[in-house]
Amino acid sequence: MAMNPWIAKAVVIAGTLVMIAIRAPHGHRSRSVRVAKSHKTPLEAGLLVLAWVGFFVPLIWIASPAFSFAEYPLRTGPLVAGVMCFVIGLWLFYRSHADLGTNWSITLEVREQHRLITEGVYRRVRHPMYSALVLYSVGHALVIPNWVAAPSNFIAFAVLFALRVHAEERMMVEQFGDEYAAYTARTKRLVPGVW
Ligand code: SAH
Repeated sequence: MAMNPWIAKAVVIAGTLVMIAIRAPHGHRSRSVRVAKSHKTPLEAGLLVLAWVGFFVPLIWIASPAFSFAEYPLRTGPLVAGVMCFVIGLWLFYRSHADLGTNWSITLEVREQHRLITEGVYRRVRHPMYSALVLYSVGHALVIPNWVAAPSNFIAFAVLFALRVHAEERMMVEQFGDEYAAYTARTKRLVPGVW
């Protein structure tokens, strides 16, 4: 049975509001923590713009008929699976911000008094916040019944991850040396025990 697409719109609005509520205090506080060393390249700046575009396309789908040519029916199975991705993803997004604390940056930066976090959700994977964003963007792909808006977050995030993760790990090795190398040896990138 096909359902009213407004159910999907309500889910996306709720997910977006929760994500903003989790991120906002960290964004605000990070402005008062001095940056010791910035690794923000022009590529990084471009990736941040791409992430914003990926974030906004579903909101344009909600607020306007711009992508109405690309609608398809909303089904129960993908909706339920997508809501589960949102719930787990947002929980992990919350926990990874709590564990990183003042060490968090929106881009590649080393903060003053930066500490290497290896506990909490960082104990078994090095990039739990990116795992959270994978789940969140897969949630969009499953929930949104529209060929344009469904994959937009996932595509943007996949490109950001692919082009950032090596530079980020290089920056961390440069900063923390053997400590990060040992951390790398005992952890995976995104999925505990797998990859
Ligand atoms: N890649 C991590 C963090 C994303 S935020 C994750 O997915 O969970 C990006 C910033 O976090 C980087 O600029 C770096 O300064 C910082 N960072 C990444 N891993 C860290 C760690 N294990 N401990 C402390 N800071 C870290």
